[in-house]
Amino acid sequence: MSRVAWESGKPLSIEEVEVAPPQKNEVSIKILFTSLCHTDVYFWDAKGQNPLFPRILGHEAGGIVESVGEGVTDLKPGDHVLPIFTGECKECAHCLSEESNMCNLLRINTDRGEMIHDGKSRFSINGKPIYHFLGTSTFSEYTVVHVGQVAKINPDAPLDKVCVLSCGMSTGFGATVNVAKPKKGQSVAIFGLGAVGLAAAEGARVSGASRIIGVDLNPSRFEQAKKFGVTDFVNPKDHHKPVQEVIAEMTGGGVDRSVECTGSIQAMISAFECVHDGWGVAVLVGVPNKDDAFKTHPVNLLNERTLKGTFFGNYKPRTDIPTVVEKYMNKELELDKFITHSVPFSEINKAFELMLAGEELRIAKRWSMLFPCKSELVGGKVRMEDLKFHTADGGWMAMEYGRSVSNDSV
Ligand code: NAD
Ligand code: ZN
Repeated sequence: MSRVAWESGKPLSIEEVEVAPPQKNEVSIKILFTSLCHTDVYFWDAKGQNPLFPRILGHEAGGIVESVGEGVTDLKPGDHVLPIFTGECKECAHCLSEESNMCNLLRINTDRGEMIHDGKSRFSINGKPIYHFLGTSTFSEYTVVHVGQVAKINPDAPLDKVCVLSCGMSTGFGATVNVAKPKKGQSVAIFGLGAVGLAAAEGARVSGASRIIGVDLNPSRFEQAKKFGVTDFVNPKDHHKPVQEVIAEMTGGGVDRSVECTGSIQAMISAFECVHDGWGVAVLVGVPNKDDAFKTHPVNLLNERTLKGTFFGNYKPRTDIPTVVEKYMNKELELDKFITHSVPFSEINKAFELMLAGEELRIAKRWSMLFPCKSELVGGKVRMEDLKFHTADGGWMAMEYGRSVSNDSV
């Protein structure tokens, strides 16, 4: 079963979708948990985006490898994985560089609706192709993903929690720990307290920042942000002067680091201008509007402030994300507080409504653990022995068609 977006802005419909077997360098994944990110909503709404329908959205998820196509050697059925919207081919100049995660082959492509291998979709209904989304299409019980977009993780990690690491959480956290790199005791300003900004705040907390200043236009974000270690709050609307001046006054000349997670060009400029001269570093994460231009006086750079930007928190998805999962397992990083609602997959449209109402950070949509679909849908390769996975209470379950079997009876 999949949730298909037939038209922009219309509720997703539940459909029985045929999923073709994985081809060369592809992996079929049984999705167990998926969460909803604003990017899904933007592309569902398709305002200002290239509309591509019918399409299966979804890109933050956790699942189990069901079968692998030709040439896939480092994954096997039963592996626990996170599909990721941007890939790592491990061969291009970017993948070979320690400094980049912008893979030439598998870098995010929002306009692509088919698989790279043959330019075709693996999803269809009565022979009519359904487009993929970001190479992941996780709003589906089964999906097919390029192996370069699959991070193999610790099988003990709870997929309903770590699924949020496949996008926003890693982006914000990585922006702080990999790019801004605050030293212990330094001050950090976070612009925008949505899921990405709060993940950036989590990065500052883990780095031992002494002061974390949250900046947002929406005061309702402040209460929530306290749980994420944010110590001070600034609403630019409460001040008559530019927010960078307010922050400079609060901190004796500027913060040591700032991370912008809004997508607002004004916030990007303020985030840069609020860092201390001599050593301050500002990191841009938000995606600006197409006609935006960044304007600042060059003297701000001459005065030894550094401006950086990051994509997916500078993480290489296959190499680095498994180690971020380990951080969660070692309790160095908290994820549970990022998940505010859990709904069954059948109520995905409710999740869209909640997201549009701005209520939640991330929603992990809890899937039914049964799969009453036919094995032919995935090329007849479902293997019972591979379909064991851990349940929330630490047991494990094996799946049969239409019926779940707990470890008490197997
Ligand atoms: P969100 O909408 O949940 O949060 C954004 C927050 O910014 C909101 O609370 C909003 O009130 C606040 N805001 C808006 N304008 C502001 C301003 N001028 N000053 C202060 N606060 C302001 O969004 P999110 O899911 O947290 O994502 C944040 C940004 O990160 C988005 O632009 C998203 O597209 C981008 N993003 C980038 C990457 C990447 O790899 N670079 C990856 C994922 C998301
Ligand atoms: Zn590459």
